[in-house]
Amino acid sequence: ATSAFPGGKVPIDTVPHLYGGLQTSAPLHIVVVGAGLGGLSAVHTLAQAGHRVTLLEAAPALGDVGAGIQVSPNASRLLIRWGLETALRSVAVAPEAIQFIRYSTGERVGYTRWGDSMEKEYGAPYAHIHRADYHAMLLQLALSAPGVTFRLNAMVVDVQPDPEAEGGVSVTLAGGEVISADMIVGADGVKSRLQAVVTGKESSPEPTGDAAYRAIIPADVMLADPDLKGFVEEPNMTGWMAPGRHLMAYCIRAKKEFNLVLLHPDDGSVESWTAEGSADKMRADFADFEPRAKKLLSFVDSTLNWRLMARQPLERWLHPKGRLVLLGDSCHPMLPYRAQGAAMAVEDAAVLGALLVRLQNIYQLPALLKAYESLRYARCTETQNSSRLNQHIFHLPDGPEQEARDASMRAAMELESI
Ligand code: FAD
Repeated sequence: ATSAFPGGKVPIDTVPHLYGGLQTSAPLHIVVVGAGLGGLSAVHTLAQAGHRVTLLEAAPALGDVGAGIQVSPNASRLLIRWGLETALRSVAVAPEAIQFIRYSTGERVGYTRWGDSMEKEYGAPYAHIHRADYHAMLLQLALSAPGVTFRLNAMVVDVQPDPEAEGGVSVTLAGGEVISADMIVGADGVKSRLQAVVTGKESSPEPTGDAAYRAIIPADVMLADPDLKGFVEEPNMTGWMAPGRHLMAYCIRAKKEFNLVLLHPDDGSVESWTAEGSADKMRADFADFEPRAKKLLSFVDSTLNWRLMARQPLERWLHPKGRLVLLGDSCHPMLPYRAQGAAMAVEDAAVLGALLVRLQNIYQLPALLKAYESLRYARCTETQNSSRLNQHIFHLPDGPEQEARDASMRAAMELESI
């Protein structure tokens, strides 16, 4: 999917210097592996701190798939600080409320009005955007920083001590080329190769038992339908909860598109952003949903089906020699049931940059990276675990536990309306 920015050009705001004018007095050459949302964020924060950055991406070209993503205020606040406010607001839809619906009856069991409360309480919006727009924003930001080199078709296959410089590190690319660095950031995603180098253990990400169908439908077909137009006119985030499944839906791109994420038991899908699923199978899997949900699904022409993978929290994110550190899904992949995976990667990058701008000599590097790991580990681990807990809560089988869940949501909704 291409981004919604006219001519592909992302407007970047002029903002005060990220670190109040501070720059490192010991600029390093840092290799960032992986140009996902986390890697791009790290390129920006590290380059702004005064380091020279080489970004290596395995893919031969950057493309991004058509799906929505939620940007909660903890992430949008950073994007705004980085100069992306105009860009973000031009492509985002801010949900009026979050609501939960019983899958079989259509009854609204939970409703929390957000309105402008996110801006008031957190100083930044809750934004629903298209992932292609998110990627385009961070890509342009990263590449506009001074001292950044970007290489596609650069698959890292190994990390070793630098043969030329004591204490240094190097990456080996698939073609055999060796690139030396003072430090490496592994932002290579859930299937991270660098994770094994850091932990010293080969391990694959674990299936979570769930997979996600994703689809986007044009909002104008919904506006023409009396049963569905309300989902666009009042752009809430809507979740239908069912045994073993849930459906999340929200508007993106100035309410012109409607994004659907359908979480369901994994039945042999693959872990890939681009794997096509069957729209008919998707409809069959959700055939017991209430009429509005089924009507929404009737508008889906094609769907992506992605196996959701995660890992138990790693024992460390920093290689014992203190020159290789992990960030984003490479170290804390999680179920998307709190919509925090990319937000945590963006936060990681902010913390890493804020620490490395203070580097005054290379000998401080291991301690600063240890500080990064310590500052981020508990928060990301808690987010991984609570995302897993939401799998249980959202997917309760019909019965007493589900009734208790719905009753407590109804009670909260009544309190809210007082
Ligand atoms: P990736 O985006 O996976 O990027 C890794 C990059 O590294 C890729 O470009 C890859 O090609 C490259 N790479 C891999 N190996 C190598 C190598 N050896 N050499 C060079 N390059 C390499 N998060 C949210 O915050 N909000 C949401 O609403 C949300 N919804 C989601 C919905 C679904 C269905 C899913 C699956 C996830 C969702 N997430 C959400 C999570 C979010 O997508 C991820 O947490 C985030 O994209 C991780 O970014 P990353 O940069 O760490 O990894």
